[in-house]
Amino acid sequence: MLRLSKKHGQVSGIILFIAIFFVSLHPVYSETGMGTDADTKITAIISQMTLEEKVAMLHGNSMFSSAGIERLGIEELKYTDGPFGVREELGRNSWTPVGATDDSATFFPTGPALAATWNNDLAWQYGKCLGAEARARGKDVLLGPALNIFRTPLCGRNFDYFTEDPFLNAGMTVNYVQGMQSQDVAACLKHYALNNQETERGRIDVQADERALREIYLYGFEAGIKQGGALTVMGSYNKFRGAWLCENDYLMNKILKDEWGFKGLVVSDWGATHSSVNSALYGLDVEMGGRGSGPDAYFMGSALLKAVQEGQVDEKIIDDKVRRILHVMFSIKKQQPNRATGALNAPEHRQTVYNVAAEAIVLLKNSAGVLPLDADKVKTLAVIGDNATEKHAQGGFGAGVKAKYEITPLAGLQNKLGNKIKIEYAQGYKKQFKPGAGGRRFFGAPTPDNTPDTTLIQQAVKIAKNSDAVVIFAGSNRNFESEARDRTDLQLPFGQVELIQAVAAVNPNTVVVMITGAAFDLCAVEKSVSALLWSSFNGSEAGNAYADVLFGQVNPSGKLPYTIPVKLDDIAAHALGAFPGENATIEYKESILVGYRWFDTKGIEPLYCFGHGLSYSAFAINSVKTDKSQYAQDGTIDVKVTVKNNGQVAGTETIQLYVHDTEASVMRPQKELKGYAKVFLKPGKKQDVHIKIPVKDLAFYDGTKMQWVTEPGQFELLAGFSSRDIHKTTLITVK
Ligand code: BGC
Repeated sequence: MLRLSKKHGQVSGIILFIAIFFVSLHPVYSETGMGTDADTKITAIISQMTLEEKVAMLHGNSMFSSAGIERLGIEELKYTDGPFGVREELGRNSWTPVGATDDSATFFPTGPALAATWNNDLAWQYGKCLGAEARARGKDVLLGPALNIFRTPLCGRNFDYFTEDPFLNAGMTVNYVQGMQSQDVAACLKHYALNNQETERGRIDVQADERALREIYLYGFEAGIKQGGALTVMGSYNKFRGAWLCENDYLMNKILKDEWGFKGLVVSDWGATHSSVNSALYGLDVEMGGRGSGPDAYFMGSALLKAVQEGQVDEKIIDDKVRRILHVMFSIKKQQPNRATGALNAPEHRQTVYNVAAEAIVLLKNSAGVLPLDADKVKTLAVIGDNATEKHAQGGFGAGVKAKYEITPLAGLQNKLGNKIKIEYAQGYKKQFKPGAGGRRFFGAPTPDNTPDTTLIQQAVKIAKNSDAVVIFAGSNRNFESEARDRTDLQLPFGQVELIQAVAAVNPNTVVVMITGAAFDLCAVEKSVSALLWSSFNGSEAGNAYADVLFGQVNPSGKLPYTIPVKLDDIAAHALGAFPGENATIEYKESILVGYRWFDTKGIEPLYCFGHGLSYSAFAINSVKTDKSQYAQDGTIDVKVTVKNNGQVAGTETIQLYVHDTEASVMRPQKELKGYAKVFLKPGKKQDVHIKIPVKDLAFYDGTKMQWVTEPGQFELLAGFSSRDIHKTTLITVK
């Protein structure tokens, strides 16, 4: 509801604002945004504002809000983290939680989990439910999705992001944004851009060529703006080509606002602003995370006001920023009676996080058919590992969720099977850190102690020996993988490899479930067990999802959203010595060859490739056909893939369509993902699945012409179930 302040008695302003908002009770807003009507109203509102009032809107007035104008009845804009749940309520001017009793929220599976579903509809549903939670908590902007590309597995923040592939990234982003904004909450694409490492993130100057910029690092952001209609964007901490992101004329003004036509607001990452004039001129609209409270604590506060008064910044630039803020407010129907009211921890949200968690679990290996476990045959089950009881909604540096509930793996198994099966638990390894900070870790982050705990291992071996089957929940946790720091290597921490080997040696029916935000060295683990599953931090319903996949109620269908390498040096950035940079500069020497693009083009064998994920069933692609053999530049390729379930159980498979440019004039990756679709099939059934690829999606970015170019000639389409499990191919020609 519109709350009007009579404090200043500025009756005319109030009347104007009432008039504006009451006119807007009529259909002012189109479904997806707003029309010229709203623009006219915004112009009228701005004309009523003093310069001081305008500038007051351009920076934080508390830790997570920026000011409105009381005199005009415009309430403050409220932000919240993001990206995998609504953060608990913090003090107005501190990072300390206020200790509220009504701010527990649903913990949504983190980015790589959502990406592992390869399910755009689920991404929409995820965004919708998360948006509803933000609304129920009275928020206007949710700081997500986070969509930086996985350039190195060491990036401490990969668990927040989606994938190494720009096309999958775009699919997740667009749908997350649209789902969220359907709830009248603005999504925030972060961190724009090239924030691909945490090491020196506040200083590092990224040098990437134009092709890498467009094809890899900006691709998801561009889709999020143009297709998703994202209303806000967060400027990141780092620099690009010498200029801080929050004052980067090229990325903010030229590309985001001019080229992509972004009408919403750019908010700084918290404390990522460095100047008043340059920030104002080069793209920042709202500064958050000041050096204290009040306008003096912000570059975009008193100092900016002075700069405008002195003529260093034209007031029109300030007006444009206010216009953008009001555009966001109008688009999310702020203070309008027909705005969505949302819901917290609703049954629909519970179901959605379960669906995502279940589809996110990736079956990496099942060589001896240990899985699925048979609840009629397994009488005793040993559950081992710290991650069997660990919760992942919070931990480490940065945003988390005060989860209403989080079902751990052990609880999930006990809930579902406790009556039927004797379940014994042993911790096996424990989170242990050496005193002091080490390596490239900041913010007092500890170095893991990897010494195996022999007592814990013996206890685990003992219960493993006496059980019909064993499930070890291992991997990482939120203290180990965290914002603001990168890992130093790929080693699995806390001596868990020794545990897994010791347990597997006494029980051949040992299953390992890895819970991690990014890739680890799994070589030793992979050799010692015949069944291996992967998942990310999997949300409130994690434990139920694991139990259902392990015991076959759910046939796994997750697919890796990134490559798991044999060793760190197989990753392009590391092979080329291009991480973490020198003298606060990092050159992306591998250009566009990120992730599987590098592995495939250079012929490097990964441990598990991008897109990999097995099923309890066996699928085949019988044929791949296109509607035509030749296409015009503005055409669309309709690819028909016939898929069959040849296995004994029903299941879902993901068809992945890659493209190989057979006669390019420039270097192109060996293959690039350009389409995907999921299909559910009962045993023995087959189905034709249509995937549409616009010809323009076959383009590369020409850094000399500064445009996307689709070269005429032949392209090969490769259809498969992973980037390396290609079943059928076909050729088309672009005229
Ligand atoms: C993070 C952002 C986050 C912000 C506010 C920063 O440290 O990089 O992702 O939204 O803090 O919590």
